Amino acid sequence: MTGALDTIHTDGLKRGVIPLQRCGACGTVQICRRHFCQKCASSALDWVDAAGSGQVWAVTVVNRAPDDSFRALVPYTIVLVELDEGQRLMGHGAAGLAIGDRVVATPFDHADRCLLKFIPESRAETP
Ligand SMILES: [Zn+2]
Repeated sequence: MTGALDTIHTDGLKRGVIPLQRCGACGTVQICRRHFCQKCASSALDWVDAAGSGQVWAVTVVNRAPDDSFRALVPYTIVLVELDEGQRLMGHGAAGLAIGDRVVATPFDHADRCLLKFIPESRAETP
């Protein structure tokens, strides 16, 4: 049902950016891919790229894989990050991250999927 939206999102991740939807009617920016604005229900949505930087809001370590494809990764860190654009999303995180740390997103391939991993801003390469 959301195949085209998922493709735009995944293609963005592969380019190293996090695509966000911006409403042309009210300006709301949403991270969940939808066909309508979550605030005003307008379908006038376009895409903008998030910078990929933000701050860690929560951290947990996964010791039990949700399925076989993640078994080789355990233990791994999952973080909730508030992007500088204001949206929050979850992703993998570098080991040792703590609440309040500044991070940047980087894509990684896993089991035929493109996922996000947040690493400390201090370890990110500068262009
Ligand atoms: Zn709107």
